[in-house]
Order: sequence, then structure tokens, then C-alpha cells
Amino acid sequence: MKTNDQLTLPQELRATPFGPRPSRAEAEQAVRTLLRWAGDDPDREGLLGTPDRVVRSYEEFFAGYEQDPVEILKRTFEETEGYDEMVVLRDIRLESHCEHHMVPIIGKAHVAYLPDRRVVGISKLARVVEVFSKRLQIQEKLTSQIANAINDVLQPKGVAVVIEAAHQCMTTRGVHKPGVTMITSRMLGAFRDQPATRREFMALIQGRHEGLSNA
Ligand SMILES: [Zn+2]
Repeated sequence: MKTNDQLTLPQELRATPFGPRPSRAEAEQAVRTLLRWAGDDPDREGLLGTPDRVVRSYEEFFAGYEQDPVEILKRTFEETEGYDEMVVLRDIRLESHCEHHMVPIIGKAHVAYLPDRRVVGISKLARVVEVFSKRLQIQEKLTSQIANAINDVLQPKGVAVVIEAAHQCMTTRGVHKPGVTMITSRMLGAFRDQPATRREFMALIQGRHEGLSNA
């Protein structure tokens, strides 16, 4: 577990749970190696700035390793005037990377919970999707991590997470099957035990369904 002290250090001085982080220069060198492996010349003009840009992109793609979903979720509100119906956040844009090929997974997530007195700001639910997405993932694990984090911190009566996503490792390489969407779900508490609750959630997320746009 990283401490807060670690988070105030510049990224290249921070340790990972697996030992010291490689330096930025080492990461850029690795990109140069891949450029040569692809058959190009890392010293030609168009590629000179590429290792730097790729490393910066990685900082963005994988920013979730630096963020703690528990911190994001733990500020809750209890003044809800007895609100005890489902809270659903639909069509949350999802951008992740598959851990097998390191290429994008693009799609959307639907997140719902049934509050037990406490609610959380809705932007926090979207942030939790983002934190887990900005790590290397498989869709099944991503779906479970989002649901489990909300369940553990908010302790609601139930949590439901559905993710629909296209995997570029299937569309741009390998079997080359564009237009295929993978759907995963994790249902906890009332969403797992009560068919009526699950049906209500599915109906809410399927209404006005627009599908993936050019993922
Ligand atoms: Zn893949």
C-alpha cells in the first residue's frame, strides 16, 4: 500500500509495490526499443519526440494506480429525507486497457446501488469507474472491482454494475471482429437476491439504448 508521502513525490521517485519504479529515461528507452522492433528508426525526425509522448500517455492511461477508490467513496451523505430507491448512473464512458495486449477497451458502464441511509455524490461513482479503468484490466475483473468497492465502502442494500465494451485486441488484431461487444455484470445484495430489483435495473439501463458509438 502506498503511503501519502509516496504520493507527494514526483512519479519517477515513487516505489511500486513490486520494487523501485523504473526511471522515465528507462521507460523512454523501452519505447525506443519497441520502435526499432517495429522496424523504424527512433532517431528520424518524426519519431524523436515519440518516446516522451508515449510515456506521458502512459501516465494518463494508467493514472488509476495512483488513486484510491476508498478515499473517493468514503465521503457520504445521510440527509436523504428517507430516499430508499435505486440510484442508477447510466452510460458512463469507459476507457481501459486490456492486460493481455495493452490495447484499448472502450465502452460504457452502468452502475446502480440501493442505498441504506447513506448516499454518495454521483460523480464519485463515475470516478470509481475511472480509477479501476485506468489500470491494466480484463473486463470481468474491472466489473467486480467497481461493484465490490462500492459495496465495501457504502454498505448499501445492493450494488449492480454492467459493462458493455469493445476490445481492440479483438477488433484490430487477432480474430479481427469489429462490432463485437462484451457484456459483463456483477450483482450484489438485493440485485442478486431479488429478481424484481434486478429487472427494474435492467429496464432502466436498457431504456433509450443507443449502443456503442464507433468504439
Ligand atoms: Zn487483449
